[in-house]
Amino acid sequence: EKKYDRGLEKSRKTFGDKLNALFANFRSVDEEFFDELEETLIEADVGFETAVRISDELKEEVKLRNAKDKQAVSQAIIEKLVALYEAEGKREENALHFAPAGPTVFLFVGVNGVGKTTTIGKLAHRFKNEGKKVLLAAADTFRAGAIEQLVEWGKRVDVAVVHKKEGSDPAAVVFDAVQRAKEEDYDVLLVDTAGRLQNKVNLMNELAKIARVITRELPDAPQEVLLALDATTGQNALTQAKQFKEVTNVTGIVLTKLDGTARGGIVLAIRNELHLPVKLVGLGEQMDDLRDFEPEEFVYGLFK
Ligand code: GDP
Repeated sequence: EKKYDRGLEKSRKTFGDKLNALFANFRSVDEEFFDELEETLIEADVGFETAVRISDELKEEVKLRNAKDKQAVSQAIIEKLVALYEAEGKREENALHFAPAGPTVFLFVGVNGVGKTTTIGKLAHRFKNEGKKVLLAAADTFRAGAIEQLVEWGKRVDVAVVHKKEGSDPAAVVFDAVQRAKEEDYDVLLVDTAGRLQNKVNLMNELAKIARVITRELPDAPQEVLLALDATTGQNALTQAKQFKEVTNVTGIVLTKLDGTARGGIVLAIRNELHLPVKLVGLGEQMDDLRDFEPEEFVYGLFK
């Protein structure tokens, strides 16, 4: 099974299938062709400005290669799309970073309901299968049910969860978790946090305090601050991302619920507008429905 066989059906319909149709009806590289290409990008929720820019870049690529027939034009466009999907062109930027020794810490941020907890569960499952010793920290002590939900995931994938009662200081939970990770030689600590954008100053202080607690014990941690964004919210996700970038040092994006939307183009907008790599994509609610973001396979997944 290919990496993106399942989960991109909806995006494939609006994006891949439309581009395929555009190639199928191809007559010549004229204004009309590029207008339709731009339209297709906009419909895939690439965002207007990015769509215009990408369309121009694709036009440039076609010209550069002197592509004239259907085969050459479609190849030029698909290859250029792959290049554009890669974060600043550097493949290694899309990969998760780990500590060379001692526990690796990933901090998860994002507003309620975007899929943070689910992503942590899926990732815990993956790391455990890789033979890593995984610890979870329930530092979203604010939302009713968040702690329970993480504990539930811990049971499901059989990893330990550090938690306190609802309303306790999130930094205290993280402190305990970091201590335990060090003392008991955990490989990875995944920290769930509350993403209350309604009060940005509080959120900034809370995340800064959590980061301080981590860094005091493990100077190179957290290795990643991953912002979860719900792909079905389209351009709103971009607005959220801009706000989170203002309050904390985000290192990468987890784009969730791509299976539930036709807006696969949003990945392009993230790279172009936020200059942040998409590191992981969520393609469903089950444990196995999490993929590394790999631009080439992703684009070919859209054109299947
Ligand atoms: P949190 O509040 O950010 O921790 O969000 P949750 O992890 O509780 O997720 C909210 C809802 O989104 C849950 O019903 C999840 O099952 C669902 N969800 C999370 N990720 C995905 C995904 O990739 N695809 C789909 N279809 N649903 C998802």
